[in-house]
Amino acid sequence: MTTAPPAPLLVENAHLIGDEWVPATSGERIDVIDPATGDLLARVPRGTAVDVDAAVRAAEAAFPAWRDTSATTRGALVGRWAALVEAHAAELDRLESQEVGRPHWGPPPMPRILTFIAGQADKVQGLSLPTQSPDVLGLTLREPFGVVGSVIPWNAPGPMFVTDTGAAIAAGNTIVVKPAEDAPLTPLALARLAREAGIPPGVVNVVTGYGPEAGAALASHPGIRRMSFTGSPQTGAQVMAACAANLVPLHLELGGKSPQVVFPDADLDVAIPAIVAGITLNTGQICAAGSRVVVDRSVHAEVVERLAERMAQVSVGPWHEKVQMGPLINAKQHARVLDYVRVGREEGAELVTGGGRPAGAVFERGFFVEPTLFDRVAPDMRIAREEIFGPVLSVIPVDGEAEALEVANGTDYGLVASVWTRDVGRSVRMARGLQAGQVVVNAALGAGVIGGPFGGYKRSGFGRTMGADAVLEYTQVKTVSFRG
Ligand code: NAD
Repeated sequence: MTTAPPAPLLVENAHLIGDEWVPATSGERIDVIDPATGDLLARVPRGTAVDVDAAVRAAEAAFPAWRDTSATTRGALVGRWAALVEAHAAELDRLESQEVGRPHWGPPPMPRILTFIAGQADKVQGLSLPTQSPDVLGLTLREPFGVVGSVIPWNAPGPMFVTDTGAAIAAGNTIVVKPAEDAPLTPLALARLAREAGIPPGVVNVVTGYGPEAGAALASHPGIRRMSFTGSPQTGAQVMAACAANLVPLHLELGGKSPQVVFPDADLDVAIPAIVAGITLNTGQICAAGSRVVVDRSVHAEVVERLAERMAQVSVGPWHEKVQMGPLINAKQHARVLDYVRVGREEGAELVTGGGRPAGAVFERGFFVEPTLFDRVAPDMRIAREEIFGPVLSVIPVDGEAEALEVANGTDYGLVASVWTRDVGRSVRMARGLQAGQVVVNAALGAGVIGGPFGGYKRSGFGRTMGADAVLEYTQVKTVSFRG
């Protein structure tokens, strides 16, 4: 087994500050590892507060000219970036696969996200306001904040990077992004393409490094005017505290424990493969992963049998082989997921399939784990409440619609919820009753909707990305009154 050669877009030992690709001021580096083999993929700078400060200054210097660039030009430049990302889609896909360890997913969503955002740049409009007197005019302006800070995770580094960066710069802000230490290569490649597209120096800056060093320095930097964080609730709370100290508004996109609610009239031929895909895609390392099956007791036995059968068919292996599921991202996540399997067993859940590292020499070096199904999970068990971030599915039997809703809503999270039923009235009641930022009926997560706002209820976070207001979220409102 060999890992494919690195993509030509690979940026090594340099991050982007203003117009310069530079190493960390400290000279130190971080190893980026192929999670399927443990092999070294590349090294990136171990940025610290000094590098973050330089990047924020570069972004501050670039801000006035970028703010005053016409919205048409900003949109056109983001559009050119989208076209370059599309032209390099295969390379970017391979790079992201290598560092995340995921098999090919189909066409990468980055060009689509950027194209959608580019179209919003010249549609940021204010209002004309009613006034008390005919010689007064009132209106609102939508203005950028200034320098935006963004800390992103490793599970989908490409889409996360373009979602935050595209929207922030389309609105006229400049940005400093701190990618995750496990998956910084795709963000660096995307930043390179942004520069090639003609987006001016200093508008997009990337500082690589560890969270408590570079990430914390970015979140607490006094030059940041608006912050965005995607990752764990624990780190999100720290970022929010840092923002509170400087009174900086922020957007938090945190975890989930998304329920898949299955009623007796569900079309199981459609539901079962979708549910299994929803927990094995990216090895369960997706904030929206459907990690709980809340199933009516009358179909419980059949659902568990069919889920087990389907999960056992999921092919696992290194990303470049034709498999459906790759490894987990790193040794820490591997130990964490296996520990949750232990916890589930100790709590009294029934392990139906999976639960360990797959057998075979190919799995020994990487961070592999089997697709895992727990049955007879009680709603108060830890495996039913805590985000595992691995391919571990918990089946919770319930009696009737009211209990299904109560159990589905019974966690601190509220990101995505799916309902499987042919009863229209029930699907309407559930769609209204579920506490989640996204509800999907009879379809896989997302269901191919374009421009759906994405974000959480409860402890899954606040703020929305990807919708028609994606760019507006990166503006602030100014009321202007004139007396003629
Ligand atoms: P994390 O939240 O610690 O890391 C996410 C990002 O935050 C990374 O870029 C990291 O460098 C940065 N970071 C870490 N500490 C920071 C700090 N003090 N200040 C500023 N930035 C900081 O997540 P993790 O350790 O990579 O994963 C742990 C768990 O988080 C996972 O098991 C999963 O449950 C959850 N997670 C959720 C998502 C999501 O999309 N919702 C993504 C990744 C991880």
